[in-house]
Amino acid sequence: MALRNSMEPFIYSHDYPKKWVRFAKFWFQLKALWRWFRVQKPVTRLMGYQYQAADDLLEIDITYQCNLKCNNCNRSSAQAPDKKHIGLEEISQFVEDSLCQHRSWRKIRILGGEPTLHPELNEILSELHRLKIAQPDLCIQLVTNGYGRRVNTVISKLPDWLSIENSAKTDSIQPDFGPFNLAPVDSWYHKFSDYSNGCDIARTCGLGLTPQGYYPCAVGGGIDRVLNQKNGRQRLPSGDDEMRDLMKSACGLCGRFRDGHYVPPKLRPKILVQQTSMTWKKIYRDWKSDRHQ
Ligand code: SF4
Ligand code: SF4
Repeated sequence: MALRNSMEPFIYSHDYPKKWVRFAKFWFQLKALWRWFRVQKPVTRLMGYQYQAADDLLEIDITYQCNLKCNNCNRSSAQAPDKKHIGLEEISQFVEDSLCQHRSWRKIRILGGEPTLHPELNEILSELHRLKIAQPDLCIQLVTNGYGRRVNTVISKLPDWLSIENSAKTDSIQPDFGPFNLAPVDSWYHKFSDYSNGCDIARTCGLGLTPQGYYPCAVGGGIDRVLNQKNGRQRLPSGDDEMRDLMKSACGLCGRFRDGHYVPPKLRPKILVQQTSMTWKKIYRDWKSDRHQ
């Protein structure tokens, strides 16, 4: 893997010359093959799990409400729309637990759904600011779709200490999204995969805090919402809780498990429509019928 360090800055950049695209594609095909081999059950038993959630990074999904309905949304905000918000008390408890455990967070991202639609956004920010005061180098970032007047009005009033990532979406068609709803469990290719391996997202984005509790990644919490299982940890897990049980139940449904690692959009097929495999069709059908009971 010495090759990895020297090549990755080049491979992951978005602006390499066209003539290198074929080479980069080949590199990622090799990576995909390795990924498949690495997550097979006997290989996992031999080598251990491939990925572990970062314990100094956190994503908080404060709401599943969204003013856009993007195809292939990996929080199901379009496929199973819901105005479910996280409670202010959960945020306060997280802040308390972090301070008690002396947790040193590198970055906390506030997402959704569209986080600016949470009715108590200002109160949530005030609570999180307590962590920023205790640890001034902590980056707290709000991730918004930047779509519509209501969202932009909220953005214009956000405090200066908050970093903002604005994807400035204009449309529900997001060709660069991955096929979140193509469940690996629906594919023969992953018949013998061990889903407890997770994927690179857990390592690069960290733990997820959602209205359902804590998960090894926020995407996993969003999957639990539509399954209505409420499996998340209810208090901030200690650093040695790898939450493999939650990966085992979520990752087999998550399209991100397929690649397992970041692939630059330039090297992925554009997705112009919602792609939904059999298991997900049933999950959304059941979710809708539960709500109508
Ligand atoms: S803006 Fe984000 S949360 Fe909203 S539907 Fe699109 S992908 Fe999902
Ligand atoms: S495969 Fe999906 S649910 Fe599993 S760790 Fe990756 S992003 Fe989270």
